Amino acid sequence: MSRSTISTFKLFEMLPDAEAARLYIEARRWPDGAVCPHCGGPKRITSRKGGYYRCNSCKEDFTVRTGTIFERSHVPLHKWIYAMYLLMTVRKGVSSTQLAKEIGITQKSAWFVLQRIREACGSDTTVLRGIVEIDETYIGGKGKNKHPGKKLHAGREAVGKAPVVEIRERGGRTKAKPVAGADANSLHAAIIEHIEAGSMLHTDEHAGYRGPRIAYRRLTA
Ligand SMILES: [Zn+2]
Repeated sequence: MSRSTISTFKLFEMLPDAEAARLYIEARRWPDGAVCPHCGGPKRITSRKGGYYRCNSCKEDFTVRTGTIFERSHVPLHKWIYAMYLLMTVRKGVSSTQLAKEIGITQKSAWFVLQRIREACGSDTTVLRGIVEIDETYIGGKGKNKHPGKKLHAGREAVGKAPVVEIRERGGRTKAKPVAGADANSLHAAIIEHIEAGSMLHTDEHAGYRGPRIAYRRLTA
C-alpha cells in the first residue's frame, strides 16, 4: 500500500464486505488475470464462483489467499485489510484485544492476524524503543475460562491459557511474545529482550513491572 493513507470512511466505502475485498486483492495480485500459485501458470485456469480457481495444468485448486498471509484463515478479507489499516494508522499500536473488538473477531483470531502481518512486515527482528507500552494477556483457553483481554496478574491466572506480553512502540511497531508467566522475572526478561535500555515504559500498576533491576524509565498510566 502507498504511504499516504485514506480515511476509515473511505476504506469502508471501498471495501464494504469480503467480496469487495477479494476483488480488490485479486486486482492487485493478478492485474493480468489469475495466476496459479502452485505452478505459476497463467494459462488454462478455470474460474468458479466465489473466488475459487482451478489450474488445469497442475490440477490444483486455489484462491487469492493461497500462498499469502491470508492462507488458512477464516477471517474475512475486508477484516484483514482493516487490521492492516489500523496497524499502519494507529499511532499507539494495536493490541489483539482492541483489534478483536474493532473488527468483530475472537481475540485468538486477532492475535493470529497481527502475528501474520507483523511477520510479513519484518517488524519482529529488532528491539523496540522510545515510549513503549506493555500489556499482559492470555491467549486461548477453553470454555468458561475464555475471556479475551483478561489481565494476567499474579494469582489470577486462568488454566489452559498461554501468557503473552504485547509490546507496542508509540507511533511504531508492535510485538507479541509468549512469556513463562506473569511473575516479575518473566516480565523483566521479556522487557530486557525486546525493549532497548533507556526507553520509557508505559505499564499498568502490576507489581511485575517494578523493580530496580530494570534500566528503564517508567511512565505510569
Ligand atoms: Zn497450476
